Amino acid sequence: MKLTELWATKGKPTFSFELFPARTEKAAANLDKAIEKLAALEPDFVSVTFGAGGSTREGSYQLVEKLKNEKGLEVLTYFTCYGLSPDAIISVLDDYQALEIENVLAARGDEPREGDFEPHPESLPYASDLIAFIRPKYDFCLGAAAYPEGHIEAISLEKDLEFLKLKVDLGADFIITNYCYDNRYFFEFSERCRAIGIDVPILPGVMPIYSIKMMNILAGICGATITEELNDGIAALPEGNTEALADFGIEFAVRQCTELLEAGVPGIHIYTMDRSKASVGIVTQLKEKGLL
Ligand code: FAD
Repeated sequence: MKLTELWATKGKPTFSFELFPARTEKAAANLDKAIEKLAALEPDFVSVTFGAGGSTREGSYQLVEKLKNEKGLEVLTYFTCYGLSPDAIISVLDDYQALEIENVLAARGDEPREGDFEPHPESLPYASDLIAFIRPKYDFCLGAAAYPEGHIEAISLEKDLEFLKLKVDLGADFIITNYCYDNRYFFEFSERCRAIGIDVPILPGVMPIYSIKMMNILAGICGATITEELNDGIAALPEGNTEALADFGIEFAVRQCTELLEAGVPGIHIYTMDRSKASVGIVTQLKEKGLL
């Protein structure tokens, strides 16, 4: 089902999980276990990432196929155009279309940090170009990525929002945001979107805390602010106690999701990092509260 149709008809907020293809056999075994636990919660959909430059093309396809055909889940495939030729874009999207995938989030992707990848000379510079390329050729329900605190390379918040509006004007049907640790960023961002006429569903991404190291690295990469509240909460925990950190992380995310859901967001999208414990804890508590 198209996600826009799901949001229009479900009558309740959705919950969904982001997964990425495993790179090693050990990671694949862990991913399988995580999928079992996450699927048991009956998410409204799951999303699968796509490595820039086509680096995970096979792995992403296999994971999408497994989630859709073996697990019977609704799948949102992410697709990134960075470095790819128009023919390569068509080839990947034709494969997803043949698999009867209905939802695609069209992002730009970033230059790979390792190796000497050469982008194709005809590759598309921005996600808006990708959306303009896809829209007339495919009937996918198309998503766009957005950043409540602004994209890390953005010239300004205003310009970033203008480019987001362009993605919607060119055919994006919904938006999924990067995470933030203070809902104020999300609420202000949503208001600014509405003020300039972006009227598609905006689904907040939520990143649980998996470890302090991972939290700092990921926030550094995407520019998410680690708030004082979060820092103070972590500082008050017994040092090195991973169990206490995991519980704190779940509690923090449940509070954040509760506020978002009570404010009327269409759902919550959890960045699982291919793990299940935090997501299961968060969704279970939100279900107990009657919010999902
Ligand atoms: P764009 O919309 O193209 O924006 C990129 C930058 O360019 C921004 O700073 C914007 O302000 C600026 N810009 C946009 N248009 C113009 C223009 N016309 N002229 C000048 N400047 C412009 N990455 C992956 O590798 N794989 C994934 O599967 C993946 N999935 C994601 C899913 C979500 C929900 C999110 C939020 C991000 C995801 N990313 C993924 C990360 C994303 O690819 C990076 O953040 C990337 O740097 C930007 O992608 P974008 O689609 O937002 O790019």
